[in-house]
Amino acid sequence: MTTFTPEQADFAKSVADFCAREAGTREQRDALTAGGTELHSVELYKKMAELGWAGILVPEEYGGAGAGNMEMCILLEEAMRGNAPIGGIGPTLITAAAYQKFANEQMKKEVLADVVAGESLSISMSEPEAGSDVAALTCRAEKVDGGWVINGQKTWCSNAHFAKSILLIARTDRNGKKHEGITQFHIPAGTEGLEISGIDTLGGREVNDLYFTNVRVPDSAVVGEVGNGWNQLMSGLNTERLILAAMQLGVAERAFANTLEFVSERKQFGRPVGTFQALRHRLADHATEIECTKLLVYSVAAQSDANPKKMLPREASMAKLKATEVSKAMTIDGMQMMGGYGYATEFDAERLMRGAIISTVYGGTNEIQRDIIGKTYGL
Ligand SMILES: Cc1cc2nc3c(=O)[nH]c(=O)nc-3n(C[C@H](O)[C@H](O)[C@H](O)COP(=O)(O)OP(=O)(O)OC[C@H]3O[C@@H](n4cnc5c(N)ncnc54)[C@H](O)[C@@H]3O)c2cc1C
Repeated sequence: MTTFTPEQADFAKSVADFCAREAGTREQRDALTAGGTELHSVELYKKMAELGWAGILVPEEYGGAGAGNMEMCILLEEAMRGNAPIGGIGPTLITAAAYQKFANEQMKKEVLADVVAGESLSISMSEPEAGSDVAALTCRAEKVDGGWVINGQKTWCSNAHFAKSILLIARTDRNGKKHEGITQFHIPAGTEGLEISGIDTLGGREVNDLYFTNVRVPDSAVVGEVGNGWNQLMSGLNTERLILAAMQLGVAERAFANTLEFVSERKQFGRPVGTFQALRHRLADHATEIECTKLLVYSVAAQSDANPKKMLPREASMAKLKATEVSKAMTIDGMQMMGGYGYATEFDAERLMRGAIISTVYGGTNEIQRDIIGKTYGL
């Protein structure tokens, strides 16, 4: 069992109660997501922001709650377990952490205030030819008098269609090694020359192609140091992996609870189907896997809180790998255990599965996570 302080347990309950109240029924969730086609409800997220939750990691001096990774994981786990359609929270928290570390004081005040108010942020690294090998990115920013001119294409950018701003990772120097000459830029929504176009996916409206055509930004748009964008990106990976892990932990728990309810009620051959050993043992295995995942996620959170400067490449990658594989397995098997009803869009099973199966790809694929873990053992 993961042990929470009384305050943390109260916080988990508050988030769970909020989700039950605001998004507890399928009708509520459909109303918030245009029938399940949008993954993020701006309206619901703003309500959470009013409770101080959107700025959970933002220091108090910038108007946030100044809480730690444990509280952040509680929020993410409970929100996903509570089926709250706020998929944009993950990329927002990941991006906010980068601004918090590297932006200058004025930009921090501006962007972190947006985060606290429930606005969303995007981070744009991936390109059509730079996925797992993201350092191969070619979207370029050329230095001109008083600023930069950006040209190129980005892809798979979550949140960009409703985000207040985008943290762009661009190439500023084409000489030297590919990890060098990368710089981060603050791009406010509506910047002239930026075109955003949605990508149709199995999961609904979530990701976008971005086209930069002679986009001009001032020198003050640089986040951190010119040429240091790669190192800045790497220093945020622990937080990114922990965020994704906590979210998928919550998804797995939701799928488990839904499946358990269904197999306890559905009768065939005169008894609840969950009492057949074939299903009962599988549910026992899923429950065990979820509990192990929970221990791992909160162990990484606690270690990060105890030692904020320490990078935890092995443990953070393990948490992302484990949580996403567990949620994928749970959601797919949950559908199987629900028989034909799992396939019907009337139930949440197929919706949960569509979200979980891609979690092993974004935020660094699980092949890449395994590589990172393997390297920490000198392989
Ligand atoms: C829903 C969604 C949201 C996303 N959100 C964002 C976002 O907000 N911002 C952003 O910048 N990007 C985002 N991405 C992009 C995401 O990070 C990439 O999709 C991911 O890094 C993989 O890149 P790729 O899709 O080009 O696959 P590829 O890199 O082409 O990989 C294809 C396959 O080859 C495997 N592979 C590649 N290299 C290796 C290797 N060295 N060893 C072993 N196997 C390997 C991969 O694991 C994968 O199975 C998102 C993607 C999705 C699907």
